[in-house]
Amino acid sequence: RTPSGYRGRFAPSPSGPLHAGSLVAALASWLDARAHHGSWLLRLEDVDRPRCVPGADRLIVQQLATCGLLPDQPPTWQSAHEARYTAALHALAERGWAYPCHCSRKHIEAAQAAAGLLRQRHAPLVYPGTCRPERLAGGTQVLEDPKTSPGSVVFASSGLVAATGTETSTPNTPAWRLHVGRVQQALGLPEVTHWHDRRLGAQQQALAHEVGDFVLRRADGLWAYQLAVVVDDAAQGITHVVRGADLADNTARQLLLQAALGLPSPQHLHTPLVLGADGSKLSKQNGAAALDLHDPLAALNQAATVLGLPAHAGPLPQALADWTGHWARRWGQRA
Ligand code: GLU
Repeated sequence: RTPSGYRGRFAPSPSGPLHAGSLVAALASWLDARAHHGSWLLRLEDVDRPRCVPGADRLIVQQLATCGLLPDQPPTWQSAHEARYTAALHALAERGWAYPCHCSRKHIEAAQAAAGLLRQRHAPLVYPGTCRPERLAGGTQVLEDPKTSPGSVVFASSGLVAATGTETSTPNTPAWRLHVGRVQQALGLPEVTHWHDRRLGAQQQALAHEVGDFVLRRADGLWAYQLAVVVDDAAQGITHVVRGADLADNTARQLLLQAALGLPSPQHLHTPLVLGADGSKLSKQNGAAALDLHDPLAALNQAATVLGLPAHAGPLPQALADWTGHWARRWGQRA
C-alpha cells in the first residue's frame, strides 16, 4: 500500500460480542481505510465499566480477525487512558468551560416539567443549566438573552425546581458538564453547528437548545463517551470516523469539544443501521445474536448488503478486495 495520511478506526464498546449491526460499522470503517490506503485502528471503548462484559473485548478482536478485518496496530483500551481524559477536563475547567453539576436525572426532569415543557419520547433530556457557574454565583440570576439562548429563561430559577419536592439526595461527587454557550461565544462559533456527513449530507444541530450542557464526566466518576472518544481520536490521529448512524447525533457535541480542546475534527460517514424484527435498531440491548462465525463470509455478505455492496461468492480475501474496489468507486480514493 502507498502511504497515506488517512487514519480510521473501529471503536466498539465491549458490552457483548459483535452482532450483525456492529459488523456493518466494522466492515465500513475497514473498507474506507483500505480504499484510502490508510491505517485502520481498533479501540475498545470500555469506559462505561458497568456495561462491559468480561471477555467481550477479546472475543471482538477474535471475531474481527475471523472476518479478515485485522487492525494495523495492536488494539487499545480506553480504560488505559484515564490520564488523558483528566488532563482534557482540567484544561476545560481552567477556562471556565466545564463546571461541576450536582443535579440528578430526576432534578433535570422536574425542571423540565416545572417549566411546562413536555419531552418527546426518546428525545434527549436537555440540561436546563441549573449548576452553571453564573447561576450559582451571587444573588442575581444571570438570564440569557432568549433570542440567543432559546429556552433558557424558562429555567431561570433553580429554586423552582427545589420547590417541586421531587429532588432526591444529591450525589456527593459532581458530574462535570461542558458550558456549551460559553465555549461557542469564546470561540466565535455559531449557535447552530453545521457539518457535512459523507453519506447523509448537510447536518446541523443547535446544541444549547437540543442537548444543553452535556456531561464530560459522570457523577459516578466514569468518563463520558463524548470526552473519551474525542480525546482518543485526537491522540490516535484519526482523520476519518466511520460508524453507525445511531451515533450521528453525537457529532455536533464532538465537534464542539474538539474546538474547545484545540483539536482537529475528523471527517464523518455514518453507515445505515441494521433493524431488528421490531423495526428498532439492532443492538446488544435488544438481544441481537452474536455473529455466527462458522461462516464469516455469510456474515460479511449480510453486512455488505446493508452497505449497498454486491453479494460475493468468495473466497473471503477476494470478497474483501472486491468490496474495497466498489467502496473506493462510491466513496472516494484507491486507484
Ligand atoms: N463505542 C461506541 C459504540 O460502540 C462507538 C464510538 C464511535 O464510533 O464513535 O457505540
